[in-house]
Amino acid sequence: MDIASLSIDSIREGLLSRRFSAAELAADALRFAEAANPETGAYLRFSPERALASARRVDERIARGEDPGPLAGVPVAVKDVILTKGVTTTCGSKLLAGYVPPYDATAVVRMEEAGGVILGKTNCDEFAMGSSTENSAFGPVRNPVALDRVPGGSSGGSAAAVAQGTAVVALGSDTGGSIRQPASFCGVVGVTPTYGRVSRFGLTAFASSLDHIGPFARNVKDAATLLRAIAGRDVRDSTSAGVPVPDYAALPGGGVKGLKLGLPREYLKDLKSETGALISGGVDAFQRLGCEVREISLPSTDYAIACYYIIATAEASSNLARFDGVRYTSRSASSETLADMYRNSRGEGFGAECKRRIMLGTYVLSAGYYDAYYLKAQKARALIAGDFARAFEEVDAIVAPVSPFPAFKLGEKVDDPLAMYLSDIYTITGSLAGIPCMSVPCGKTAGGLPVGMQILATHFGEPVMFRVASAFEQAGGVN
Ligand code: GLN
Repeated sequence: MDIASLSIDSIREGLLSRRFSAAELAADALRFAEAANPETGAYLRFSPERALASARRVDERIARGEDPGPLAGVPVAVKDVILTKGVTTTCGSKLLAGYVPPYDATAVVRMEEAGGVILGKTNCDEFAMGSSTENSAFGPVRNPVALDRVPGGSSGGSAAAVAQGTAVVALGSDTGGSIRQPASFCGVVGVTPTYGRVSRFGLTAFASSLDHIGPFARNVKDAATLLRAIAGRDVRDSTSAGVPVPDYAALPGGGVKGLKLGLPREYLKDLKSETGALISGGVDAFQRLGCEVREISLPSTDYAIACYYIIATAEASSNLARFDGVRYTSRSASSETLADMYRNSRGEGFGAECKRRIMLGTYVLSAGYYDAYYLKAQKARALIAGDFARAFEEVDAIVAPVSPFPAFKLGEKVDDPLAMYLSDIYTITGSLAGIPCMSVPCGKTAGGLPVGMQILATHFGEPVMFRVASAFEQAGGVN
């Protein structure tokens, strides 16, 4: 069986025609993933017992003549910030090195109920803070397309697993671009759904007003199928939306002739690179498909990076306060007093980027600076959301670059946090507005590095977003 080129549909067909069983597939997929993993380091650990138990449940359903579910037997990788009962979940942090969660995230429960088979947990930047996966306490991930380059981040392990073919689909999390940017760097599809579309219950909180769980896949249809399986209201997350979940996978293929697409002027003015040329080629492809592409303006874009790094760090400083050496985590062995114990446990456990963000977040929330920074950032966020709301009165979807550059070399930006933050420039606006956005492959540079096209839609506009992405994919992107 050619594990690396399986799709949800081909697995379903193989299971229902009894060419293979889910248990056989899970065993083969685990063997393949374990053998291929040293190349990229995409997985931090495998979960063979859990995988085989899920696969056997799928086989039993098939034997009883029941529908085995939309994800029947599908090998899935799960980012290590998403809790899995009984399977160690570290968030890429030394502080949680031995943490075994007592419950599952809702997205994990739903994915397994739909027949999905979790192969293992994927590496990521510590607490999802980063753009290259180099902030993991357990070493970086290599991009399967070019092993001397980063896979992007923070969900770099999930993107790399899907690109490498060691998982058919994967779950990632996105706060400011952590699904779309690694999808773009690795040449796969990555979806950040509308805020509230997927329950955050069991997703380790980074910046709660910005955190999303979303799918990675090798094609738009598989991403749509996985999203449908995990989306919907959950009483355990009060921010999850009660909006009905359409059958996203049934919608692609509807064609896009006559659709109005917006191209944000502010995103293209600095994009003179090879990435810019590929995005322009993508825009031409949309025009050939019959879309009407018009320039739009998102004038508050200039504030986005500053606004994000105030709001995200403020929320992170508060969310990370729970890691205190008492409740979940490793405790420093050498402390005389309680205050020392907190200080030492956190000091030894958190990596440099987490510490930087805790300090920044505490500062912007402090009594003297709250109005000057935090409050102002909230106002800027409202302006950014307003820009999108106005744009969507005029257009059905927005197309844009995902990242200003393709995958960079390992080590290239580790000493320059600001340069790293700039890689989010085109993704954080959509995150701040809470709208659905995704990355779909848009060709490769002359050096063979993938570049993604970003497609954004209005709140709960996933159907039109998938329709646009699917037409683009079927047209073959740029090439
Ligand atoms: N790269 C961004 C950051 O470091 C986004 C991370 C994310 O989306 N989790 O915050």
